[in-house]
Amino acid sequence: MNAVIELKDVEHVYVTDREAVLALEGMNISVQPGEFISLVGPSGCGKTTLLSIMAGLLVPTRGEVLLHGRRVSGPDPDVGYMLQQDYLFPWRTILDNALIGLELRGMLTQERKASVIQLLEGMGLGGTGSLYPSQLSGGMRQRVALVRTLATEPDLLLLDEPFSALDYQTKLQLEDLIAETLHARNKTAVLVTHDLAEAIAVSDRVIVLAAGPGRIRRTFEVPENIRLTQPFYAREQEGFNDLFHQIWKELEASEGRGERNGP
Ligand code: ADP
Ligand code: MG
Repeated sequence: MNAVIELKDVEHVYVTDREAVLALEGMNISVQPGEFISLVGPSGCGKTTLLSIMAGLLVPTRGEVLLHGRRVSGPDPDVGYMLQQDYLFPWRTILDNALIGLELRGMLTQERKASVIQLLEGMGLGGTGSLYPSQLSGGMRQRVALVRTLATEPDLLLLDEPFSALDYQTKLQLEDLIAETLHARNKTAVLVTHDLAEAIAVSDRVIVLAAGPGRIRRTFEVPENIRLTQPFYAREQEGFNDLFHQIWKELEASEGRGERNGP
């Protein structure tokens, strides 16, 4: 099968006026159609850099990035990028915020607008179209951001800690909603998270990164019984805790300190 996105020997150096920082080294990642992968690792290990490279927003110093087998040379409409902060425009209504990607790309038609309205309804946001972001809760705003990202029909979604600013209950609900929405649409996703349980609950594969320079430390396949269960209940599946502890140990080692207590 052809990978949706593939990184081959990617290396990235940030050059500032004072120093050069090797942020990523020897990155080889290949994500298959419909696959959901998570990246976990200590702060500063290059997760955001990696997503920016996949999004075509940053050109790596070395190596190759292929989207559907074609070399990435800039942002591509096939790729949707969702950040921790929702970045909704406060002066635009919810509907206008959800439509902005289509508008900017000159893709806005009555038909697409109707499907965005439907998507808002499907996300429990029916009736909020004429409200403003300040009138919505954090969880609702993240759902709007997801609708906005899905509106342009990307087949690859890059999610950079999209749940980390939310309270625990909202986060669990949103994990389920996102996993279900992406699976139903056969989307491919790369999620960055610092929440191990979340990574295991939503993904097919968890990649643990190490810092200094950022590189892959180990990849874990999530067993089928966990993969096929919706995230909320995945946490109760057999083998979940074992995997959690294995990945936890790997993370501890990659952070270079072994004394922190477990969860
Ligand atoms: P993470 O998302 O895993 O926390 P980042 O990708 O943000 O990590 O950063 C990786 C490394 O690159 C860090 O050492 C960070 O300080 C450095 N870095 C990130 N962005 C820049 C930049 N624009 N200029 C210089 N260094 C940067
Ligand atoms: Mg980051």
